[in-house]
Amino acid sequence: MAVISRFAPSPTGYLHLGHAYSAWLGRRRAGIWRLRLEDIDTARCREEYATAILEDLAWLGLAWDGEVRVQSRHFPDYAAALDRLRERGLLYPCFCTRADIARAQSAPHAAEGLYPGTCKRLGAGGRALRLAAGEPFALRLDMERARRSVTRPLRFFEEGEGWTEAWPERHGDAVLARKDTPTSYHLCAVHDDALQCVSHVIRGEDLRPATHLHVLLQALLGYETPVYVHHRLLTGPDGRRLAKRDQAQTLRGLREAGVQPAEIRTGLERLAA
Ligand code: GLU
Repeated sequence: MAVISRFAPSPTGYLHLGHAYSAWLGRRRAGIWRLRLEDIDTARCREEYATAILEDLAWLGLAWDGEVRVQSRHFPDYAAALDRLRERGLLYPCFCTRADIARAQSAPHAAEGLYPGTCKRLGAGGRALRLAAGEPFALRLDMERARRSVTRPLRFFEEGEGWTEAWPERHGDAVLARKDTPTSYHLCAVHDDALQCVSHVIRGEDLRPATHLHVLLQALLGYETPVYVHHRLLTGPDGRRLAKRDQAQTLRGLREAGVQPAEIRTGLERLAA
């Protein structure tokens, strides 16, 4: 069976060598390699970076298959997926501000780092009043209900690790739609991986925790769970992982400094060996 993978950068900056490594691992592995721009955060994403992503991948010689999926053009798709969860009573509106959450989390019995469930405990009347008053709200997944509503085993196959039991509870009642963005990375990634028939998700190990939640969302939405590859992250000379702020390591910067794409590809190959 052909491996179908994808590269899903967010156009919030220029691609750096870490992105190139991820893209190159995917391209060399996949029979079909798709490109997706994860640009739902319209305040942070910029058209100029989206254009640069396409140019830099082409310069590096990494050609994607088919159309580029631009998430910001598909908000209605994500709203429909959210509706399916909402109709089953798996979502609830959360009106909390960051300050509310921080305050509740400092309570003696609060589970560390997780949403304390303040808005889950609102009565139907209180909730309706706040909605009617037009108070902004996020949508959270009721983790307990969601977990109870799935019957299939929650696990994923991770190359190099084998079968892993998913533990979505580590995310608590995760936000699936934000106050300012009517969806979330988790929901869009899971939806689009299914839509793009992705068989192998190849991405950095910083996203391994997200996979645990993605496996639950796949079960809730009736999607298959792909195989996962979580590759190591590249670090800079200071030992810290490369980030968009490290200008010197951007593909653009390297290109301007006269580095040839073949040299970069050879370097990436050596890293993967
Ligand atoms: N858009 C994410 C990022 O740029 C990648 C998400 C994924 O590969 O699932 O970090």
